[in-house]
Amino acid sequence: MSWGFETDPDFQAELDWADEFVRTEVEPIDLLLDHAWDVTDPVRNALVGPLQDVVRDHKLWGCHLGPELGGPGYGQLKLALLNEILGRSHSAPVVFGCQAPDSGNAEILAHYGTPELKERYLEPLIAGEVMSAYSMTEPRGGSDPTGFVTQAVLDGDYWVIDGEKWFSSHARFSAFLVVMAVTDPEAAPHARASMFIIPSDTPGIEIVRNVGVWGHDEATHAYIRYHGVRIPKDHLLGERGGGFAVAQTRLGGGRIHHAMRTVGLVTTALDMMCERVVSRRTRGQQLGDFQLVQEMLADSWVQLEQFRLLVLQTAWKIDRYNDYRKVTRDISAVKAAMPKVLSDITGRAIQIHGSLGISTEMPFGKWVLESYHMGLADGATELHKVQVAKQLLRGREANPDLFPSGHLPARAEAARQKYAVVLAQVEAHVDAPVDSRVETRA
Ligand SMILES: Cc1cc2nc3c(=O)[nH]c(=O)nc-3n(C[C@H](O)[C@H](O)[C@H](O)COP(=O)(O)OP(=O)(O)OC[C@H]3O[C@@H](n4cnc5c(N)ncnc54)[C@H](O)[C@@H]3O)c2cc1C
Repeated sequence: MSWGFETDPDFQAELDWADEFVRTEVEPIDLLLDHAWDVTDPVRNALVGPLQDVVRDHKLWGCHLGPELGGPGYGQLKLALLNEILGRSHSAPVVFGCQAPDSGNAEILAHYGTPELKERYLEPLIAGEVMSAYSMTEPRGGSDPTGFVTQAVLDGDYWVIDGEKWFSSHARFSAFLVVMAVTDPEAAPHARASMFIIPSDTPGIEIVRNVGVWGHDEATHAYIRYHGVRIPKDHLLGERGGGFAVAQTRLGGGRIHHAMRTVGLVTTALDMMCERVVSRRTRGQQLGDFQLVQEMLADSWVQLEQFRLLVLQTAWKIDRYNDYRKVTRDISAVKAAMPKVLSDITGRAIQIHGSLGISTEMPFGKWVLESYHMGLADGATELHKVQVAKQLLRGREANPDLFPSGHLPARAEAARQKYAVVLAQVEAHVDAPVDSRVETRA
């Protein structure tokens, strides 16, 4: 038997260190920075840089990376436990060198980049020297690659890219963009697009505007136009027409990493609820004495624990199978569950904190909105639910009978037939005179 819910003592010591470090050193800088990703902000660099060095010294830098890329190669299960701690803080993923979208872009480059591309783009990215952006979603087609219109046309030794993209997060402080564009418009729907890497200073890139989202001070989601942007032929990542497959490389990991961090955020919300209900009194009682308040706490704990176990088990499966294709249902289930867990529990945290809870003096409103981010980025919840259902139905065959196979009368009849001999013996025995029954038993 190898089912276990315990952490190795050595790794637990690492987690304990990370827990203390995030609490004392990283969480405070969340309150001082607009955006931990903004490498153009001198305040950010003065605060984040030294903390990154501490993490490097402690060998917890880039924990999503395998040893071949300079990470410790912990695998997803250990990463899940670490990310639960990092998820409490906006800045912590950047301090620990495992932030989105850079982690996913690094995965793409590691898988599909030539040695030259790796040296030029991947190395500074995983060293934390630069940031990157992922530019896939379009203003018309959304994130459905079959509806993309941004095109890349081969012109001699260069690809020329024209079109526009929407919500390319952090593009304005990125050194390069990973961009999906249509190279083969006549091909089958999922073989039309390819993935490219484009240095941000390439002529022809126009940030039309940076779009903000409610709950964040900074507008960082770029609406971008690509006007005849020329990049060398070797800046194609993966096969021509293979953009969809390349995108999946980053999305599997990206989705589960968001979920790991969400566990941490929701745990914080629940802790804050618990503190509130034992601290606040009304009508002569503590809030925690009211049963309807207790129900909110109990529902939250159950929901969080279910979600956490699903995330951890999915992480375990990723390590076990080493093949994201074998865990797509699990990852979609996690992705679909995540926004509801986050919005339900942080919504209850608002309710339990009353007017203070809904005020801008508490963080809950931001976290509720974050749940919508989690329900949209990396694929809308609806698509992931469909994916789960499709996989559940894969290989299922119709039952040709009039009633379902679970119909009780038919099952009871089958059971009677299966045990007909025993039932007949018991019946004969019950019908026999009392004396003979005693003898039989003896
Ligand atoms: C905070 C944030 C950061 C993001 N960062 C990036 C980024 O860095 N790079 C990038 O390329 N993109 C990014 N995105 C975009 C994200 O991938 C898209 O928002 C998402 O995929 C949905 O696309 P859309 O916004 O165009 O919505 P639409 O495609 O217009 O869909 C709108 C809604 O329609 C419903 N819907 C859509 N399709 C279906 C369906 N098949 N079945 C049932 N219902 C459906 C869903 O409710 C969906 O939310 C980001 C989004 C957010 C919110």
